[in-house]
Amino acid sequence: MSSGPVPHMSPDEFREHGRRVVDWIATYWERLPTLPVLSQVSPGQVRAGLPGTPPRIGSHGSLDALMADLDEVVLPGITHWQHPGFMAYFPANASGPSVLGDLLSSGLGVQGMLWATSPACTELEQVMLDWLVDLLGLPAAFRNDGAGGGVIQDSSSGANFVALQAALHHATDGTSVTDGVSGSHIVYASSQTHSSVEKAARMAGLGSRAVRTVNVDPATLAMVPAHLAELVAADRAAGLVPAMVAATIGSTSTTAIDPVAEIGAVCRQHGVWLHIDAAFAGVAAVSPALRWINDGVADYADSYCTDAHKWLLTNFDATAFWVRDRRHLTGALSILPEYLRNQASDSGTVVDYRDWQIELGRRFRALKLWMVIGWYGADGLRAHIEGHVALAQELAGWVEADDRFEVVAPHPLSLVCLRPRWPGHEDEEADGLTMSVIESLNRSGKVFLTHTKVAGRAVIRVAIGAPATTHEHVQDVWNLIRAEVAAHS
Ligand code: PLP
Repeated sequence: MSSGPVPHMSPDEFREHGRRVVDWIATYWERLPTLPVLSQVSPGQVRAGLPGTPPRIGSHGSLDALMADLDEVVLPGITHWQHPGFMAYFPANASGPSVLGDLLSSGLGVQGMLWATSPACTELEQVMLDWLVDLLGLPAAFRNDGAGGGVIQDSSSGANFVALQAALHHATDGTSVTDGVSGSHIVYASSQTHSSVEKAARMAGLGSRAVRTVNVDPATLAMVPAHLAELVAADRAAGLVPAMVAATIGSTSTTAIDPVAEIGAVCRQHGVWLHIDAAFAGVAAVSPALRWINDGVADYADSYCTDAHKWLLTNFDATAFWVRDRRHLTGALSILPEYLRNQASDSGTVVDYRDWQIELGRRFRALKLWMVIGWYGADGLRAHIEGHVALAQELAGWVEADDRFEVVAPHPLSLVCLRPRWPGHEDEEADGLTMSVIESLNRSGKVFLTHTKVAGRAVIRVAIGAPATTHEHVQDVWNLIRAEVAAHS
């Protein structure tokens, strides 16, 4: 039955190969500007370059073959999110300190489901979430030393789902746990809300039809509180139960900011849970000049999430999620089987984060946040955010000054949505030209841009936020866009 000795990598071998891998990453970062930002491979090309079956005998002692495949097969299939010309979607920042924090987490190999399974995993995370409350000027009620608290989730989609679980617990006085929820519970979002809120309603068993679409102001694309109030009142009159309003600070399409204070007043009047999805934009509040984006949060938000893994120099995954009253969250998610019982949990003096998330197991993600905040400090993080916001404002100024283009939505942060005017072309034809410009630019390998629709028309999103992006790169992108539009005209 025995297949012989297990060929573990010895600590000395790890030192040797680890240096090689760290060196590879550093060289990759240096080479980034020379690589095509959007992967140019065709479907199936990466799979075809790899053996169809696993090796029976491993490479024992050598990484040569694996590193060669990394360079020749995997790397061409990479879209380079850290490239200075990456301006698609929202950024997914990586940084040296974050990668090293992740490496430490992997090296420790901790699974932090319970406080007892590694006290430091839980307590460092609590401290990091409290630090973020300070750094972002969020309400003290979110801190871990009171009724509220914060936790790292895997994503904002996950955070939106657990927020809905807490909201349903709140709306049903806890009977959601024993009896489930009937189809009468309603979730309110706008047309600009991220699709993960509807997905959360589906996963909660409410279905998409439990999601009401609140109107947005056509100029700002922000939720209209008066329409929310009408919808909530109508649902209540019909005997339905308004359970959660999902307000967005920084929508995915255009970074629209919902008026949280007015929305919160409606929620307060009707006893509805207010969740704030600030996935991309929330971390901008590290800049005191941008803290206004969170107006109303301190008074009204029951839960709030923002992603350090988008714009705060922390590798995926690191969603910071807070609740004002943790009882609804843990009430909704806690189940204690016998095999997880332990003295610390029974004492009631510790937090077991398994009760704050979907999964049981969890990585030691706080280490990378700790490294990032410790390395950059509040001033460094502010400079990172403010630098990108300044670049976006400059770009918006160039676009506004060029009568062949228009800026189509407010741009308070680092995303600029713009549209070539295409004089003489009908809307549909003009939209086709805009999409064709984006495709040509992306094929060039110099930049990666994505689109959205505003008022039904195709627009170009320029999402500034990669750590390596500088003034020169933004200027280059603007020149490329102008040249491509001229070539299509
Ligand atoms: N919410 C908003 C407002 C977003 O912009 C996004 C992604 O861009 C998400 C949620 C989903 O984020 P995640 O990938 O962390 O699930």
